[in-house]
Amino acid sequence: MRDLVLENDPILSKSGQMFDFNNPQEDPIKLTEELLDAMVKYEGMGLSACQIGVDLRVFVMRFNGDAIACFNPRIDHYSEETTYTREGCLSYPGLFFPITRAQGINTTYSNKEGDEMSGSFIDISAKVFQHEYDHMIGKVYLEYASGYMIRNARKKQALWKRKRKNNIHYQIIEDESINRGGIKQINTR
Ligand SMILES: [Zn+2]
Repeated sequence: MRDLVLENDPILSKSGQMFDFNNPQEDPIKLTEELLDAMVKYEGMGLSACQIGVDLRVFVMRFNGDAIACFNPRIDHYSEETTYTREGCLSYPGLFFPITRAQGINTTYSNKEGDEMSGSFIDISAKVFQHEYDHMIGKVYLEYASGYMIRNARKKQALWKRKRKNNIHYQIIEDESINRGGIKQINTR
């Protein structure tokens, strides 16, 4: 499994290449499996190819108790209704802050077999899709937050890193549970 790409890596701010099903840059099935394995390992709600160093417009996300892979995704419509909830990113461990996202979206993408799909997503799924879609175009969630918000989140992140150094094992979960309890501590021994 390729390593997770962390903040400051230039690939995170680069607009990704389109996946070419006629002349695949990577085996789409294998790439999907690798992304899913990494998403599960790092307890993410979603993971984009660029986050494992692969410059392609592909991501996976949890959906309805299962997971989907989206190749060359597009967002065709954003609802006017918005949500304002806490968000994290596996490339920014421990950095959480609330941002505004459309509550619902209509999308098109290809699945790992290359079939054109259209999908509507709401609430947490819409939020994850929008977050991962941003990775396709070289955008990260920090761009939606004020300097003040980020400074606050960085302070909490520093605390989180200190605690982690003291051999307390934490699990980051990019989902609603973060809204309630922050970082969930897990018992590892
Ligand atoms: Zn992310």
